[in-house]
Amino acid sequence: MQPILKINLTTNETSEYIIPAKWERDYLGGASLAARLLYPILTQNLDPVSPESPLLFLNGPLSGTVGPAVGRFVVCGKSPATALWAESNCGGFWGPELRFCGYDGVWITGKAAKPVYLWINDGKIEVRQATHLWGLDTYEIQARIKNELGQTGAHILGIGIAGENGVLFANIMCDHGRAAGRTGLGAVMGAKNLKAIAVLGTKKIPLARPELFAPLRSAANRALKEDNLSHVFHDLGTASVADYADYLGAMPKKYFHSGTFDGAGKVSGSTMTETILAGISACHACVIACGRVVRLEDGTKRKGPEYETIVSFGPNLLIDDLAAITRLGEACDRYGMDTISAGGTLGLAFHLFEKGSITEMDTGGQALHWGDVKTIEKMLHLIATRKGIGEYLSQGSRRLGRHFGEEDEAVQVNGLEVAYHDPRAFSGMALVYATSPRGACHNQSEYFQVDLGQADSSLGLEFYDRHAGVEKAANVARHQDWQTVFNALVMCLFANIPAETVSSLINMACGMDYSVDYLFYIGERAWNLKRAINNRLGLTRVNDKLPKTLLEPYQEGGSAGYVPPFSKMLEAYYTARGWDPETGKPKPERLARLGLEWVVQDIWK
Ligand code: SF4
Repeated sequence: MQPILKINLTTNETSEYIIPAKWERDYLGGASLAARLLYPILTQNLDPVSPESPLLFLNGPLSGTVGPAVGRFVVCGKSPATALWAESNCGGFWGPELRFCGYDGVWITGKAAKPVYLWINDGKIEVRQATHLWGLDTYEIQARIKNELGQTGAHILGIGIAGENGVLFANIMCDHGRAAGRTGLGAVMGAKNLKAIAVLGTKKIPLARPELFAPLRSAANRALKEDNLSHVFHDLGTASVADYADYLGAMPKKYFHSGTFDGAGKVSGSTMTETILAGISACHACVIACGRVVRLEDGTKRKGPEYETIVSFGPNLLIDDLAAITRLGEACDRYGMDTISAGGTLGLAFHLFEKGSITEMDTGGQALHWGDVKTIEKMLHLIATRKGIGEYLSQGSRRLGRHFGEEDEAVQVNGLEVAYHDPRAFSGMALVYATSPRGACHNQSEYFQVDLGQADSSLGLEFYDRHAGVEKAANVARHQDWQTVFNALVMCLFANIPAETVSSLINMACGMDYSVDYLFYIGERAWNLKRAINNRLGLTRVNDKLPKTLLEPYQEGGSAGYVPPFSKMLEAYYTARGWDPETGKPKPERLARLGLEWVVQDIWK
């Protein structure tokens, strides 16, 4: 791998960090390598928004190589929302462009005295003042910085006013609406007075066996393009799953309280394609191209919403208007806020208003009625500026619920709002949400795809009914291990790539000789390392839980009457993982088997 560029914003010192070769071999890159690099720094006393808090942008060994769906990068640190391990990966073009500058990552520490942005142009690094950019949205800063640099080809990531103001679900955006959405790392960036990082490079990415890698990646891209799931995402976007998710009761409605919503069919990927779709878009060199471009009634073209945003601002809030959802999604993108957490937190507010726990006295006279788009627009602005009720909403659903004495009503795990794949429809998601290292996250395992029979057969996963129970616990763990490999690469989770192809790509790019089994082993190692980080940060067995709403059955819809047998599933999962059922820590013998004996002392002392 190439070096990581380290920048201390307090002193403006820059240096190159050479990644130890053993760590490259043991962790590959991306979120797994970040966990190894940040392990000693992420302590319980570390304030996530202090100058000492690290913010690490990292690529994987395949990023930018024009391999299959590998144009992504990851941002890691300590989450201000959860106070646990934070990772959030992002598409677009920024990651590959950073590699073209000769760096595989950027590691930020310190805090600038005034707002700044970074300009990385091949090996040339500048810390430039950004006072004039503070207060601009994430789309405006891209145009302004490109203009200022005279470089239309530069790629820029940055924060909006939500990150500046410390909203706990502030994200980091790059290119046209690509987001490192979850865990609030935009607030960490804002606390450092870092508005943006612009990159432009011309260097070649080093490959161990380029002559063997090139034909392999071409064949892998051809096969990926012909894969059934790729066709579905290409033709209908990620919201292609919406119709079927609605039918199965997997699409949450009315903040996870209703199994049906008459308007759900109006906001699906197929409806978007038939009505407002104006084009498609792709991350760097991706043959799937799941991104949407839509045309609204005023004739303007906008980024089309993906599945999570559609549900978050659609059925979750009882809205069935795709144009309105597009605008709400764009507002979040411009403010720099995660759409899953924003919609989830608003969902709780609307639910508590209906219940009477929040009143107009609390909202400044504003009634919160389901489906009221205008009110939601206003609320998003209040969140981003942290004004009025927005101050409480900006802290996410757990703290909002706590403030109004209703923490149990918040549909979140460890401070991260649950994504829109209901475990009452796909029982495996119960374990995924409860045990993910970053809270209720679907990107550590999109296990519902396994339940739908969409996982590649080469992964060696058993197929169980979507409502099966304990028998799928070990399967979930295996799928998480494999997705951890993807998050190390940083390969898009929408890419259905055979395991043998993945191992061959790594071997040709990195000069390794890894088998598929060994990759699973590496994935399991990183999963347990992130668990150990969280154990050190205070996470125990009691954190592995589901919100009560997800353990209450729907009365109607495709999953009516079912709740996952969560306690039994978790017990079986602990057995499969080799985790101690009392403390929730990985047992010393499992850590030793994974080459992590060096963490035993820390977490078991
Ligand atoms: S499938 Fe979509 S999100 Fe994934 S890399 Fe391709 S364009 Fe980006």
